[in-house]
Amino acid sequence: MKALVLGWDCATPELVFNKFIDDLPNFRKLLRNSLYAPMESCDPPITIPAWMVMATSVNPGRHGIYGFRHRKENSYNDIWIANSTKFKKYPKVWDILAKHGFKSCIIGIPPSYPPLPLNGWLISCFITPDKNKPYTYPEELKKEIEKEVGEYIFDVEFRTDEKEELVKNLWEMTEIRHEIIKYLMQNKDWDLFWFVEIGLDRVQHAFWRYFDKNHHLYEENSPFKNVIRDYYKLLDRNLGEYLKLIDDASIFIVSDHGAKRMKGAFCINEWLIENEWLVLKEKPNGIRSIDRVNVAWDKTIAWGWGGYYARVFINVKDREKYGAIKKEEYEEVRKELAKELSKVEDDKGNKMDNKVFLPEKLYPECRGDPPDLMVYFDDLYWRSAGTIGHNKIHLERNDTGPDDAVHSKYGIFVKYPHTPKILDRVSIYDFAPTLLNEFGIKVPLHMEGRVIK
Ligand SMILES: [Zn+2]
Repeated sequence: MKALVLGWDCATPELVFNKFIDDLPNFRKLLRNSLYAPMESCDPPITIPAWMVMATSVNPGRHGIYGFRHRKENSYNDIWIANSTKFKKYPKVWDILAKHGFKSCIIGIPPSYPPLPLNGWLISCFITPDKNKPYTYPEELKKEIEKEVGEYIFDVEFRTDEKEELVKNLWEMTEIRHEIIKYLMQNKDWDLFWFVEIGLDRVQHAFWRYFDKNHHLYEENSPFKNVIRDYYKLLDRNLGEYLKLIDDASIFIVSDHGAKRMKGAFCINEWLIENEWLVLKEKPNGIRSIDRVNVAWDKTIAWGWGGYYARVFINVKDREKYGAIKKEEYEEVRKELAKELSKVEDDKGNKMDNKVFLPEKLYPECRGDPPDLMVYFDDLYWRSAGTIGHNKIHLERNDTGPDDAVHSKYGIFVKYPHTPKILDRVSIYDFAPTLLNEFGIKVPLHMEGRVIK
């Protein structure tokens, strides 16, 4: 038994199953003998934690991972960053396979830096700080791939206006990863081969406005109008080459979430200031992150963070250093704020489809450092901007660099070969059980999903 998992980070069902399907001959042919469906991601549907949810079938609350950054124990601006060591509590599928003697080749699954030992081979992901650091398991694998294939590229700088340069970098990164994947496929004795190509996420964030006529910054007839389509074609060509190299493996093609156009950025802290939840000692000169403005903490009830979704924190006495509300008031204040946030409107005064979550309602167990509220503005169409000093609440563009897309809740799931079947949806929690089942391994009780049939 062998399984190959192609992780196309951010692959979007509407594009890959419909809009671009005629441009993807290998993928289209494979679908004819596959089970496939849109795959519902976790909350929040973002790269970290979604890939680890897929690999463990355990929700973000139990992992205690709510995004990339987390605040350190109720501090105002001290943070910690998620990495591979924060996901040790639950076994990944490859850890379980190892117990049954199966070997895995794992490439670029976020977060896999620093590289952790496994029964097989591993190359770490886009959070790898620098290629002079050890980024493989075993450590010698780094030398081997650099000698036999070339220098690995972890990521590209995608929030940039240098679009031509970005196209070049994206293709270069994907090409080298493709060569290394082919080399390892042929030279290692693997049972599970799972890689993630982050380039697709980057290309969709960077080029969405050039192909989506509904995007508020749509540019007609741009030289970049086909970049996203061409990138999917590149992945399809690479898929064709893998299919030629292996003939005895089950193949899965999956994504951690999808993408859709960004409508704008909602300045969470500007809104909190305007509505007197957040109080400054003085207005900043220019645009600043909240860490660099003078906050009157003793008068502040709540503050927020930017990102694809907003994390909101409440300033509680005896929990935060200068807590402004009493513990007994916490629930009432939180509910009031949640209600107000659910009513915020877009730049034109239109109603938005806001979703405000209390973390403990989303997850039966909230380990680590959860925020007090999690907010999806307009079902994530509006991202959250945490910076202060805009003097307005709605921005046309992202406040942390050019970005045209946000994440959508559904990614993709394809299993080949299979009697042709299309399902309405599957869940990201079902992936690990399904993969284990493929190897004849019983699904452990701690997993939350079930085998896709
Ligand atoms: Zn992603």
